Amino acid sequence: MNGFDIRNKQKKYNLQSWSKQGGINPISVEKADGIYFWDYEGNKYTDMSSQLVNMNVGFGNKKIGDAIKEQVDQYCFVGPSYGAESRAQLAEKIVNLLPDNFGKIFFTNAGADANENAVKIARMFTGKNKILSRYRSYHGSSFGAGNLTGEPRRYTLEPGIPGFIKFFDPYIYREAIAFASEEEASKYYLTKLEEQIQYEGANQIAAIVMETITGSNGVIIPPEGYMPGVRALCDKYGILMICDEVMTGWCRTGKMFAFEHFEIKPDIITFAKGVTCGYVPLGGVAVSAEIAEYFDEHLLSCGLTYSGHPLACAAGVACIDYYEEENILDNVNAVGKVLGEHLEEMKRAHPCVGDVRYIGLFSAVELVKSKETKEAIVPYGNDPQGIMGRIVGMLKERKFMTYSHENMILVCPPLIITESQLIEELEKLDEVLDIVDRDFI
Ligand code: PLP
Repeated sequence: MNGFDIRNKQKKYNLQSWSKQGGINPISVEKADGIYFWDYEGNKYTDMSSQLVNMNVGFGNKKIGDAIKEQVDQYCFVGPSYGAESRAQLAEKIVNLLPDNFGKIFFTNAGADANENAVKIARMFTGKNKILSRYRSYHGSSFGAGNLTGEPRRYTLEPGIPGFIKFFDPYIYREAIAFASEEEASKYYLTKLEEQIQYEGANQIAAIVMETITGSNGVIIPPEGYMPGVRALCDKYGILMICDEVMTGWCRTGKMFAFEHFEIKPDIITFAKGVTCGYVPLGGVAVSAEIAEYFDEHLLSCGLTYSGHPLACAAGVACIDYYEEENILDNVNAVGKVLGEHLEEMKRAHPCVGDVRYIGLFSAVELVKSKETKEAIVPYGNDPQGIMGRIVGMLKERKFMTYSHENMILVCPPLIITESQLIEELEKLDEVLDIVDRDFI
């Protein structure tokens, strides 16, 4: 088939996520390599979002491909209750990457079901029901994970599951209060959280679920002291701390897992995306040794046909080996520094850039009508003129491929990007922001 036929067939037979189906126009991808992909007309695009912030090692990684092929030759599948080398190996590798309080892994198919199973495990272990998560969060779109999600993508599930409670993130840029320091901000948010815990009834709350660094809702990095403060509240009230590392895990932020930035040990983490970089879908729940031991004598009421799929686990083993052997963290930290410097420069230079937030190769550019009022370039949850779509479209014309969320543009390139490749792409972003300054605000 040619690109045109693929596009038309896809439009005719596939329902596309999060879209009005009448307006979709997918690029048919013919080949892909590293940070680039090509359509059937020979146009070359740069993947500046690592697809859905999952393809950390980029396209066409031979080592991962070969590991999958080797597993295909041995066998593609044996059920979760059988021993499979790649499954056992991957779980061991992940536990060894985590702090010493961690014990075992329950594998899932992706991020949403990792979060749902984490919630089930927390409820079984604590015997409590309520779950706290944050408004500015995305934890998946299936029914349970969608109820954890706090932003508008949960609306179709409303009124939702009883006992799923939301609290606000430490989003200092848009806080009405001007804090003197990050520590002061943390104190404020922690006081409010403690008040909410008390009013919900601490003896009813099984877990607090947080994206360690809020991702698609704008790379909201917790202020100094916030995460240790949440940890302390969890300890004080016997609540489990669950960090969703689906987007932030696997080197994205300059550490293997984002919680390492904050010197905390969660009780449970969930992961997906970069564990296999999408070469085969996989997710998982890592639990503390204490939780793992609890299930020695209690039924673990969780199960999936494809839990620990051998092909996915083979991809995972190769992927982790690649992160380690190629010192991917060094690249993330070196190129991430350059990304941060350029984003700060854009913030200085462009009236339309209200804020930039970045850590490692994980960043967001927040667009406003005015730096003084901070009025977002599009109203919350509503972009009637399609302004953000037009901005992303201008980037696409320049072959800078990413996506936006509300008034934010995500810049999260594959972790293998070089400094010169990054700079070349950021020039395109700069050019588009010039047009936004001139025509959109
Ligand atoms: N959690 C976070 C933080 C995510 O960003 C996502 C997806 O973007 C999910 C969970 C859901 O993962 P999946 O789409 O693999 O179900």
